[in-house]
Amino acid sequence: MDHKGRQVRLQSVLANSHLDALLVTHLPNIRYLCGFTGSAGALLVCQNRTVFFTDGRYKEQARTEVQGARVNIARKPPLVAAAEWLKANGKKLGVEVLGIEDRHLTVADHSQLVNLLRPGIRIRNTPALVEQARMVKDSEEIRCLAAAAQLGSSLFDVAVKALGPGVRETDVAAELEYVARRKGAEGMSFETIVTSGARSALPHGRASTAKIPANGFVICDFGIILAGYCSDMTRTLHVGRLSSDAQRMYDAVGEAQEAAINRVSAGVRVDEVDRAARQVLGRSGLGKYFTHSTGHGVGLEIHEMPRVAAGQHEPLLAGMVITIEPGVYVPGVGGVRIEDMVLVTGDGCEVLTPTSKEIIKL
Ligand code: ZN
Ligand code: ZN
Repeated sequence: MDHKGRQVRLQSVLANSHLDALLVTHLPNIRYLCGFTGSAGALLVCQNRTVFFTDGRYKEQARTEVQGARVNIARKPPLVAAAEWLKANGKKLGVEVLGIEDRHLTVADHSQLVNLLRPGIRIRNTPALVEQARMVKDSEEIRCLAAAAQLGSSLFDVAVKALGPGVRETDVAAELEYVARRKGAEGMSFETIVTSGARSALPHGRASTAKIPANGFVICDFGIILAGYCSDMTRTLHVGRLSSDAQRMYDAVGEAQEAAINRVSAGVRVDEVDRAARQVLGRSGLGKYFTHSTGHGVGLEIHEMPRVAAGQHEPLLAGMVITIEPGVYVPGVGGVRIEDMVLVTGDGCEVLTPTSKEIIKL
């Protein structure tokens, strides 16, 4: 990964934002900028120097992983070490205004920073600068995301085999997660969702010990982490006799998903993609049951910018990887969601999730 290039691009963003340095504390942002994958660290990006702080547990790991930054191993929390280092060296490096990732700092950490740096260095909350840079993936990241989507997708067959009336939702999730690890996944990118029958109307319900009923929808929404990158997909199956109402519901969501995917292209605003899905469901009389947004960016984290939602005006750019996941949830009855990962290209998109969207009836 081009960590040094990412740091250089961030440095020019800092200069344009009138910031002398940025203290990066959000671990996925640290990983993105310097490659460190551990669980304790702080990265100080100044105009002409980048320093990474961690503790003794990560001495070896930091030496092998961190690129483009000097490594500072401290006997104190990385945030404190970074603040003290800045206090001692800030003047020499011309750091008067320090940006912080306020979204990712606790109130206690913030007051500690203010106390350690005062007087001399002013702290300024910054917009999500690194997250914004992370929206557009480079070719290496796209390869990682495509591989994660491929492996994630291969697990759907495992879920289908495990699934049937009387089987607990957690048993399906367990089977899927076991095979994911056997296939080399580092973990799941979020808690696996298997919701059946009336529970499928819970858009973010988790797999529970409820048994899959003899009749109804089953939503499987899951993802794995591979080389740090997340996959995310959803398919909805049906057990028992499929009523014409249920078939209509499934077809409407399928059509909405297709309409949204067809709308995806560089230059199109995310709210236009959301509207494409919403219009189809509105025409089917199901619009009021589509209660969440159409999708989200995905990368080192499962939910990244941009949000593909009404009221968001971000234009899509080639290289963004987003999910398209409209759904319909009828309380007490059940729900349907279909989700793919797509790569935005100059003239449309490439669907990264290879699994068929034909309804599976068990
Ligand atoms: Zn999902
Ligand atoms: Zn998703």
